[in-house]
Amino acid sequence: MDCKTAMLQAARDRDCFYLYDERRILAQIDALQAAFPNAALLYSIKCNPHPHVLDCVFRHGLWADAASAREAELAHEAGLTPRQIYYSAPGKTLSDLERTADIATLIADSPAELRRIAALAEQRGRVMEVGVRVNPAFSFGGGDGSPSKFGIDEEQLPDLLAASGPWIRVTGIHVHLRSQELNADVLSRYHLDLLSLADRLQAQCGIRLAYINMGSGIGIPYAAGDAPLDVPAVGHALATAVRTFRERYPDTRILLESGRYVVGQSGVYVTRVLDRKVSHGRTYLIVKSTLNGFLCPSLARLVEHYAGTAAAPCEPLFTKADAFAVSALSDGPAAETVTVAGDLCTAADVIAEDIRLPHLEPGDLLTISNAGAYAAVLSPMQFSSHDRPAELFLTGDGALLT
Ligand SMILES: *Cc1c(COP(=O)(O)O)cnc(C)c1O
Repeated sequence: MDCKTAMLQAARDRDCFYLYDERRILAQIDALQAAFPNAALLYSIKCNPHPHVLDCVFRHGLWADAASAREAELAHEAGLTPRQIYYSAPGKTLSDLERTADIATLIADSPAELRRIAALAEQRGRVMEVGVRVNPAFSFGGGDGSPSKFGIDEEQLPDLLAASGPWIRVTGIHVHLRSQELNADVLSRYHLDLLSLADRLQAQCGIRLAYINMGSGIGIPYAAGDAPLDVPAVGHALATAVRTFRERYPDTRILLESGRYVVGQSGVYVTRVLDRKVSHGRTYLIVKSTLNGFLCPSLARLVEHYAGTAAAPCEPLFTKADAFAVSALSDGPAAETVTVAGDLCTAADVIAEDIRLPHLEPGDLLTISNAGAYAAVLSPMQFSSHDRPAELFLTGDGALLT
């Protein structure tokens, strides 16, 4: 069945749910693999760890960017090897490191963490290969580096690695400075800066890098007016730069991470109109589980209310004011101006104000776009003890899985 049929079928016994479309995920993976044929692609599990989604992305050749010990375990349980799972997050506990040392490639996020990993390696009596997350001396859009809660300042690394002892060997670096970039030139400039960084660190620290994990930054069009990122152009520029780099370092693997590009647009949130009313001349539609089912559209309204439409992004909580399209599932011309609000007892639960929609009655369905990444995982589903929205998966063969 197609996506719309799946939504109608799923809505027979549900008032709200997510639907993830495998065909769209596969198209996105194809686009990345075509653009970056010589890089390994890591799926950033934190954006959507739904079991069918993980199964799909790993079956189609993506490796794992794990942001927690549990995510490293999910990738391991899916059959990925330690070389295919990169665990990078600030504040890993000793227990996190113990759980993951044998199943993932650990990326140290601080000097203390590097020492903790060395102590663990010594205790286990084997030399461990680790990566370090680097806070570089440059910033994403050009210019100098800045303080960061992530990683180790580039300038600290030579002394730190010289003193790191016999039990760890640093064989990789990881940098991720920004998500959701739509300008190919800016993203390509960042990739070039990373290759220079790798060059510098290998010279200054006497290390040999088996991999450079370049993080993400790969953006998607959220609003109707967003020009999509020219992914093939980014791929072409990277391939050219890597060809030169590999003349000196032929064995260094390039890793790219992506969460939202892979699944962001594959998801739709479907919610039912529960009530309608007019107050002081304004028409309200009350719909099922908005703020508590899919948080980001309500947050976008909140940010717009306080900061205006041009507020700076704060990923993954806020991308832009018009990042999510609210539409009627039924076809029909726009017939009235309505405000769409959720069924929570808080005035903050509003997802659209004064938008044009067909005339809808209780029982009708609305869809919210861009619900595949940072959607279900970010939403406060315990609030008010409502039922959680279901997460459904439409396979490439058109089967609806629950
Ligand atoms: C969240 C995250 C990503 C994924 O970013 P997207 O914008 O979803 O592609 C990649 N790398 C790191 C380190 C992250 O924290």
